[in-house]
Amino acid sequence: MSKYVGAIDQGTTSTRFMVFDHSGLEVAKHQLEHEQIYPQAGWVEHDPLEIWARTQDVIKGAMQKAGLDALQLVAIGVTNQRETTVVWNKQTGKPYYNAIVWQDTRTDRICNQLERDGLADLFRRKTGLPIATYFSGPKIKWILDNVEGVREAAERGDALFGNIDTWIIWNLTGGPNGGKHITDVTNASRTMLMNLETLDWDDELLRILGIPRQMLPEIRPSSDPSIYGMTAANGPFGAEIPVCGDLGDQQAATVGQTCFDVGEAKNTYGTGCFMLLNTGTEIVPSKSGLLTTVCYKFGDEPAVYALEGSIAITGALVQWLRDNLDFFDFSHHIEDYARTVEDNGGVYFVPAFSGLFAPYWRSDARGVIVGLTRYANKGHICRAALEATAYQTREVLDAMKADSGVDLAALKVDGGMVYNELLMQFQADILNVPVVRPQVAETTSLGAAYAAGLAVGFWSNLDDLRQNWQVDKTWTPAMDAEKREKLYRDWKRAVERTFGWVE
Ligand code: ADP
Repeated sequence: MSKYVGAIDQGTTSTRFMVFDHSGLEVAKHQLEHEQIYPQAGWVEHDPLEIWARTQDVIKGAMQKAGLDALQLVAIGVTNQRETTVVWNKQTGKPYYNAIVWQDTRTDRICNQLERDGLADLFRRKTGLPIATYFSGPKIKWILDNVEGVREAAERGDALFGNIDTWIIWNLTGGPNGGKHITDVTNASRTMLMNLETLDWDDELLRILGIPRQMLPEIRPSSDPSIYGMTAANGPFGAEIPVCGDLGDQQAATVGQTCFDVGEAKNTYGTGCFMLLNTGTEIVPSKSGLLTTVCYKFGDEPAVYALEGSIAITGALVQWLRDNLDFFDFSHHIEDYARTVEDNGGVYFVPAFSGLFAPYWRSDARGVIVGLTRYANKGHICRAALEATAYQTREVLDAMKADSGVDLAALKVDGGMVYNELLMQFQADILNVPVVRPQVAETTSLGAAYAAGLAVGFWSNLDDLRQNWQVDKTWTPAMDAEKREKLYRDWKRAVERTFGWVE
């Protein structure tokens, strides 16, 4: 019977379960969306019980479709939308509140207060992060402060916090009946609560945010030969399988793209865009608006760090045109409309829907469309929306260069938007760097599978994994420098129009 590795990828809009063989090729896949809950402007929630239900459905669906037996799986890895925050009761497994999603900006007052208290440098130094609504710490504080009874439950040790990886692993390994309450270093590095050097929760930061340590999960390596726990026999697999890989989605994609050498980078184009540059075992502080984060930690090896440029809204803008403005029925149709025009017609669309993340970190920014004339049509708006992804990526790449001195020879890309040919060519043009898509573009799931498979010896070392990476397509820059810089300058002018909208 052939042996494989399974990966659960719990993303912002959907959950998938994938099974990979030894050469990193897909053997099975099933994917389901879940509801996006918007209770008021700026708030974004998910129902954790729906997420766990969808997780079980996609596992069963994929196994059934491919006719696989659970005994063929040697290990399970988990990867997840990062920062999204769940607090639940450890006896009942019931969440006290919906999951507060990474894009949610309800903690802006908490964050502003921390800034006013002069704590920005402390948080940056210890966690590598700016104070922002994006991260989990302020979201946990919001739940403790606003949901009745949770603070008392947390102090009693009855309430558990987790990002979605922790929530899924706890449920997979038995839930209220002995579920393991763990996370990995990459997820923990996004909470604003973990010290990047000690890789442990930082008592001073916990005190500042008023978060009881006993509600936090144990921090483990991303690939763990000592195994987080076994899947419950009465769970969706119907068998006991080691769960031993856990990575935040962007770190998982970095592993899936086999960016194991210092100076290698990838950019993932999904709901948002996330570029990670491997900086090795060195913690590189950013002066240019990037995050310093953990890239992965495999077993007893030292942690590897990354510089990250996070962009909140890229593919989500395409969804917004689809769902809020009814521009088209499927995201990929945006390319057809964008191709009806030769260029953006002078229109720029800055999707600062959740403020602006890297490199600005402006929670006071809101979206704008500028440069409108009577001439502008649907095609121009579609084009401007796609171009926004490319310009935002250029801003991040410029910041990476400034912080690390690394000049990328090529950018490895993945995620749902990389099948948009117009966008990928424009990306290469605006960066003036070749853009390369690998054959297995499901790098997030693949990275989680790699972490789990390494832990049990299914893959013996990183070279084993590097061999699996193959080029599918390369886009080479073809735009003259003058045009490139003019477009980029105009984009920067448009960005300035977004600042200070929220007073
Ligand atoms: P996530 O994991 O963040 O949910 P995916 O990697 O699955 O995201 O990518 C989905 C995103 O990419 C959606 O926001 C969708 O609107 C966008 N998208 C998918 N296909 C295309 C396309 N051909 N052109 C532009 N955007 C696309």
